[in-house]
Amino acid sequence: MTSIKTSTPTSLNVTNRTRLRSNIITESPDEQVCASVAQEEPPGKCDTGKEKFFPGVPDYLWNDWKWHFRNRITTIEQLSRFIPISCDEKLLLETVIKRYPMAITPYYLSLINPDDPDDPIRKQAVPSILETAMDAMGMEDPLGEKEDSVIPGLVHRYPDRVLMVLTDICPMLCRHCTRKREWRHGAWTRTVSEIDRMLDYIRNNNGIRDVIISGGDPLTLSNQQLEHILSKLREIKHVEIIRIGSRFPVVLPQRIDTELCTVLSKYGPIWFNTHFNHPRELTPEATNACDRLIRSGVPVNNQSVLLRGINDSVEIMTPLCHGLLKAKVRPYYLFQCDEVQGTEHLRTPVEVGINIIKGMRGHTSGLAVPTFVVDLVHGGGKVPLQPNYVLSMTDKELLLRNYEGQVYRYRNPNPETGVKTEMTGQPQSDIVESLLAHAVPVEKKGRG
Ligand code: SF4
Repeated sequence: MTSIKTSTPTSLNVTNRTRLRSNIITESPDEQVCASVAQEEPPGKCDTGKEKFFPGVPDYLWNDWKWHFRNRITTIEQLSRFIPISCDEKLLLETVIKRYPMAITPYYLSLINPDDPDDPIRKQAVPSILETAMDAMGMEDPLGEKEDSVIPGLVHRYPDRVLMVLTDICPMLCRHCTRKREWRHGAWTRTVSEIDRMLDYIRNNNGIRDVIISGGDPLTLSNQQLEHILSKLREIKHVEIIRIGSRFPVVLPQRIDTELCTVLSKYGPIWFNTHFNHPRELTPEATNACDRLIRSGVPVNNQSVLLRGINDSVEIMTPLCHGLLKAKVRPYYLFQCDEVQGTEHLRTPVEVGINIIKGMRGHTSGLAVPTFVVDLVHGGGKVPLQPNYVLSMTDKELLLRNYEGQVYRYRNPNPETGVKTEMTGQPQSDIVESLLAHAVPVEKKGRG
């Protein structure tokens, strides 16, 4: 790996930091509202939040998702008014965002601790020079979505499901995004005729029972556009469920307002998949947004991405999943970060994900444990990975290891004999004998 030297933002003194934050966005009329900023900062204090970054913004604007969208931070110059960035680093990051643009909502920015260069919220939003330095690693389209597109914007990989990619616009550009390739093509949204073609395809394929609406982020569409698409899908008898994939509850929860929830409530069953990666993202605003969806009859699942230095430990994933359950959101998947160009610095070895599941399974309720999956390259699909609990399996008996590492025998109610294990192809008797020799004798326990 190339060794890259970065500046140390924490080396800036208090005067500089105060100056940096007293100079907030000045490029649109809206932004003049933000210009009044705290002038003093106690040394060593690491406050985050609206009051720290945007004290001059009245609540009516802060609660307006369109204000946040208009005032996204998209240049390094703007960013440097909130987060200490040295001149050298500014120059480097300017080159990074030419290849991989930046967009951060004021809301998400307000969650960042500006005094911590390794802040897990910052790492998801602020570009890194490693994105271009390690760009040779990875693929542009690792999941082969282009190959599986039956018509522009419609991916049909599995027989009963399709993915509608309606736009490439997102409220925030997450540094680990699988569709980073789309950022270079400018902002686009599918035209009415393109959407009609997708709807025709779904209408003409009776086997499609599940439609996933995605992007970019589909909630960047207007409520009227969304309602049009949802109502047309609901007219198709064989479409049983609709799923919406959106990170708005995490990066701009103000979008989940009454008007949107009213639209969604009319076209159920709709399932909502969102994307929390760290417990600090579970703010009152975010959990209230999930609550509004759930109260509108829209169940919410979470799909985290495993990210180096952000959530790659049991100590982070467990409180994240507990927080999700408290918000009535199901921790559904933990994805291995895809092999995407510009994300290598955020990827972890696969064993990290398996060990997180090992550290959670049995130590907390099963409802809190997501399924760890690798999405295979070239459209091979998702493969769930988990610690190896099955030590051997024969037609008569299994040897199973529990979460405490103890080995149990379990009688297999299988009338057939002579079956060879699929796991290794070795005769089962050899495996069983060798494992039994090392099995920990355990007392029979009741169900926990
Ligand atoms: S919200 Fe999703 S699609 Fe958009 S940038 Fe983030 S990860 Fe990518």
